[in-house]
Amino acid sequence: MSMIVRIELGVLEIELPEEVTCAQLDAEIEERTRKIQRHAFTEACSQLEAKKVADRKCPGCTGLMTIRDVDHRAVMMLAGVASVPVRRLRCPACGYRKAPLQDFLPTSRHTLPVVERALRLATEVGYVRSADILRRLMGATISHEQIRRMALLEAKRLGRDLEQQAEELFEWGVCPPDVTERKSDDTVVVAMDGGLVADRGTKKSFEARVGVVFCGTADVSKDRRVLRNRTAHVGIEDTQTFARKMSVLAIQAGMLTAGRTIVIGDGAGWIRRTARDWFPESVYVLDLYHLKRRISEVLGQEQDAWWHAAVVRACIEGRPAEAIRVLRGYDPGDDERARLLHERLIGYIRSNAEGIENYTRTDLFGSGSVEKAVDVIVSRRLKCRGMSWLKPGALGILKLRVLRYNNEWDSHWASRFAEAA
Ligand SMILES: [Zn+2]
Repeated sequence: MSMIVRIELGVLEIELPEEVTCAQLDAEIEERTRKIQRHAFTEACSQLEAKKVADRKCPGCTGLMTIRDVDHRAVMMLAGVASVPVRRLRCPACGYRKAPLQDFLPTSRHTLPVVERALRLATEVGYVRSADILRRLMGATISHEQIRRMALLEAKRLGRDLEQQAEELFEWGVCPPDVTERKSDDTVVVAMDGGLVADRGTKKSFEARVGVVFCGTADVSKDRRVLRNRTAHVGIEDTQTFARKMSVLAIQAGMLTAGRTIVIGDGAGWIRRTARDWFPESVYVLDLYHLKRRISEVLGQEQDAWWHAAVVRACIEGRPAEAIRVLRGYDPGDDERARLLHERLIGYIRSNAEGIENYTRTDLFGSGSVEKAVDVIVSRRLKCRGMSWLKPGALGILKLRVLRYNNEWDSHWASRFAEAA
């Protein structure tokens, strides 16, 4: 069923200077149109209220309710703050009270489209800058603190499905919905990573864990590959909780029918254990992006280019022992830190030997997209200079970023807009 709301917007009459510029005209019309937009919003609210008020039968005693008074609600909508009159009804017989428009207007001060835009910005830049940009672009004044709280509230709605599916899978053996059927020559990849985030509470740090599941890659240009059917999950949670959710995503991506599963990790112990305990049929490989970064820490100088190339080549050929042999022949000099990093790199390659040997069993590497997938979600927003976070706030922003990474932003908000206030 649909209804029609008819709003008279009148004539827009603007007084302009004789030598008006195009820019001035554009700015003036924008300003005036916002005023009209606010008027239209208020007017439409009144008409909706009139329809609701038409039936005055009291739900309590079937007597007739009367209008007691009119309250004014300030609603921050896309064009700024609209003051909406809200009629409050009361039943003289039984004292029942209601304000029909109350359920229609947002419970917080802002409409959801305003919240959506604020949070979209907040997934890219800090709260203070988000608030500033929002004010400049929309004339909407929202404080950075309000945006922070919006992010916390919205994040509570995200990830519930996956939580429930993991619970059902491991407690009751219920297969998750929407499982993709794969063929024997398909490969499902599960990439996991942890990013350390500065903890504002303890002045130390905590780990945000990110996992991406995908099946195959597609070349979009000579140097760029994208991951196909990728889905990400983020959590600040223990290994088991995280692994259960990654299992659900891997099953949905078709792990049970695909020919093989590859688990990619940055060398962290918890990821190797997850691969072993939760993905026992999989091939574990060390994330080449992290390995290269470690190699560059030691062999990043121009004069070390030959050594760098030799170590990387040995690794990609799946020969960790050869990589260590090359490294042993390299002299890091007298600097104590350089010697330490050199020694650590050898240790890193040794303890990840299996993950390096397995490079020969996959053709995934050689393109940044696979290797960086996970790094992108955490680092770009949470690890900027001087930033520190409390866990709930960090998780909130990460969940919102994952929503975008998973291309679910628009559908999420479309269903949110369809919900009643
Ligand atoms: Zn009544």
